Amino acid sequence: MKPTLLLPLLFTAVHGWGTLGHQTVALLSQQYLLPRTISSVQSLLNDTSSTYLGNIALWADSYRREVGGEFSAAFHFVNGDDAPPPESCEIILPQDCPDGGCVVSAIANYTERLKDQHLTTTERQQALKFVVHFLGDIAQPLHTEAFGAGANNISVTFWGYTTNLHAAWDTSIPNAMLGLAPTAAITTGDSLGWANGLAAAINAGKYRRLVKGWLKYHDVQSPKAEEKAAAAWANESNDHVCDYAIVRGGDAYNGTEIGGEYYDGAREIVQVSVAKAGVRLAAWLNLVFAGETGFEGSCRS
Ligand SMILES: [Zn+2]
Repeated sequence: MKPTLLLPLLFTAVHGWGTLGHQTVALLSQQYLLPRTISSVQSLLNDTSSTYLGNIALWADSYRREVGGEFSAAFHFVNGDDAPPPESCEIILPQDCPDGGCVVSAIANYTERLKDQHLTTTERQQALKFVVHFLGDIAQPLHTEAFGAGANNISVTFWGYTTNLHAAWDTSIPNAMLGLAPTAAITTGDSLGWANGLAAAINAGKYRRLVKGWLKYHDVQSPKAEEKAAAAWANESNDHVCDYAIVRGGDAYNGTEIGGEYYDGAREIVQVSVAKAGVRLAAWLNLVFAGETGFEGSCRS
């Protein structure tokens, strides 16, 4: 019933969050990195600029299209091959993460490589770039769903702009949240502005009490623990497919305009998903480089 076998081909057009989403996750996470993490990460990237993680957040999306980088294309998503939404949504491992890998196994693998002092600086630098990117991708609900190739096959318009449901979640919806058109050129200032707004909600606003729960599965001691955490994040994102993104069934959205009421509900999910991804990335990197999440004992936890 679902075109599972076609997914790798169909997914070649998918980039994950667009520039705005990925940069915002990375720049938000920078605000919560511990001093030891900052120095390790900056030295690994050979970048002491104020946007060192934002600068590499999109790298994995260009690498997948380079000669030699194609192997990484499947690492940007996981095909939750459940009953067609909204009937059920669930990531079932290992069956939803085949031998070629998926975002869940890739997060575990590249976290291990990031920790491995026997690897070269170049190899560990690449691992860091993947980790920064994939912790963003896994927070996009339609990167965790097989139906309609992650809803790439569901054609929609967004305030008249022709796109598909997946791309709308990647780019059109986040851009609109900042008052930007789907095709707008994103500046670092746009991403920084969104990151600062989210940080305010995390530090003293509506997300403050949620942070501890967001870090429930944080553990970088073993590939198994890392995979367990990533699977939990993927399942959380996948839940939004059934509870919102495709809640009326795929056919109900095909050919429709989603710029009104649908957008109003989607923006809340995008907002919290990007906030969560930024916090999770910071705490993950802090565990790798400093042995603690950076949120222990603070008012935020
Ligand atoms: Zn991606």
